[in-house]
Amino acid sequence: MSIQILSDAVASQIAAGEVVERPASVVKELLENSLDAGAKQVTIRIEQGGRRVVEVTDDGAGIPANELALAVARHATSKLCNAEDLFRIQTLGFRGEALASIASVSRFTLISRVSSAAAGAKLRVDGGQVGLTEATGAPVGTQIRVEDLFYNVPARLKFLKQDYTERQHIEALVTRYALAYPQISVHQYNDGQPVLRTTGNGNRREVLANLYGVDIARQMLEVTFQDDLLTIEGFISPVALTRSNRKEITFFVNGRWVQDSSLSAAMLQAYHTLLMVGRFPMAVLFIRLPPEEVDVNVHPAKAEVRFRSPDRVFSGVQRAVRRALLAYSPIPQAAPPSWGQPESRTIDPAWQMSAELKAGAPVEQGGSDIPPPFSPSGLPMGTAQAGLPGGNLPLLRLLGQLGATYLIAEGPDGLYLIDQHAAHERVLFERFTRQDPGAIPGQALLQPVVIHLSAADARLLEEQRDTLNRLGFQIEVFGPESFRVLAVPAFLAGADPAAMVRVVVEDFEEDETPLKSVLEQRLIARICKRSAVKGGQLLSQEEQRILLRDLEQCVSPRTCPHGRPTMIHLSVDLLERQFGRKGSR
Ligand code: ADP
Ligand code: MG
Repeated sequence: MSIQILSDAVASQIAAGEVVERPASVVKELLENSLDAGAKQVTIRIEQGGRRVVEVTDDGAGIPANELALAVARHATSKLCNAEDLFRIQTLGFRGEALASIASVSRFTLISRVSSAAAGAKLRVDGGQVGLTEATGAPVGTQIRVEDLFYNVPARLKFLKQDYTERQHIEALVTRYALAYPQISVHQYNDGQPVLRTTGNGNRREVLANLYGVDIARQMLEVTFQDDLLTIEGFISPVALTRSNRKEITFFVNGRWVQDSSLSAAMLQAYHTLLMVGRFPMAVLFIRLPPEEVDVNVHPAKAEVRFRSPDRVFSGVQRAVRRALLAYSPIPQAAPPSWGQPESRTIDPAWQMSAELKAGAPVEQGGSDIPPPFSPSGLPMGTAQAGLPGGNLPLLRLLGQLGATYLIAEGPDGLYLIDQHAAHERVLFERFTRQDPGAIPGQALLQPVVIHLSAADARLLEEQRDTLNRLGFQIEVFGPESFRVLAVPAFLAGADPAAMVRVVVEDFEEDETPLKSVLEQRLIARICKRSAVKGGQLLSQEEQRILLRDLEQCVSPRTCPHGRPTMIHLSVDLLERQFGRKGSR
């Protein structure tokens, strides 16, 4: 076939493929146009997940009748004049592509009226075939109705998911925009049913309740941050409120929803060690910076941006999030809110800990350098060091074990219920992290353990083998996809070496490439989880006592390395209240 220039119709369909992937993309483009037009009120109507109808009506500036045909022409925009403008874009749209693209793959009707016109005008486009502009009655503003999306591109139609899924995508999008623009009233109807109605009174928390429900909205922490480059506003979840994936982490940059994995990585690092592995925060952050600091012209759907000083933006996000977390009441509460908090500290112990680790500050040396002998249960023996300052915990008197899972202890200020597994995880974690990397004593196994892995897992282990060997393991290659474990960290002797080593091949989040030091800490946290005593394991009195002493020595005794609480505290004050001895007169 000789070289030919594509017909306009084919060229627009190709362009449409980049901009319009699914009904939610149509909603996004139309909504952005309404926002650019200065609308105060936008109504979105969806039928059958948007594949039958997407209709967006606004009270914005409108389009003059003689420009309707231009609006649906490719590369026709009122938002950009020259190439210079591209580098200081203030509007959401700028390519002049969206309407042309959408109109080429649907039955499209545009009705608009500017305030100076006596009547509105209407234009239909059918699969890219532009009709004639005709006069019609219409209020000031614009209504765009997109019917039968992809009716003329069956291949695309096949890729659409069930209506339910498409609807979810649309709702997620619309609520986020409503949140980003709280001063605009957004109404949405699905198959005639109202699903969202914001007042436009500017109150973001109110909109947040639409997104997450009232309870969660109330708990979300407010973020406000400003430096000479950025302002960051928004909401993040407290550490106790998590999700199993990162879908609830949303960023807006200069009013535009962007997907940027390094921004979420910055966010996750701020939560580091406060969340359990595999748990993610919820967050909506609105980042503003001068338009010339962001290149928005890097992605067809404008969903990605490029920063001129990415490091400053990421560290701004980290600091903003961290500050909001620190300002929030620190100690994880597994108990009703009335249950007392032992000390009036305002900084989460886990925070202090990671801050110290990051700064490389020496952490109090609690254990002895000589590997202690081990008890059959795997709990280290002989590491208790009574008399040393008790870290963040008062000295506790052991009362016993409950349900083979919890330790009960008494302190000067009440009763402590300690989760033995979480506590032991914390103890082991600090043993790892308080030593210089490379100086962790290993203990040779009497019988080396051979591990066989899949090719992919073998590659993962090979990547992490140096790290593990630095942490007191001794692992060598033992034939293709096989490894031999010769030694493990001395304080973990007794636990299953194969299980510990396998933690490196458990899936890490695919799109996450955290700093090496973070990766190492997560690896350590997982190894500790694997090796710690389990709930349901009966401990001897001696083992209980040692665990309690070791926990007292910890820098952050109140949370496990994954951020869960290790203990519940019932203060004397609370007990007195509950028994009616105090405060009820
Ligand atoms: P872009 O938004 O990149 O300029 P579009 O194809 O989305 O390109 O829109 C083309 C033009 O149509 C816009 O530049 C704007 O002038 C006009 N337009 C589109 N939607 C609206 C609207 N809701 N209100 C007013 N003008 C609109
Ligand atoms: Mg646009």
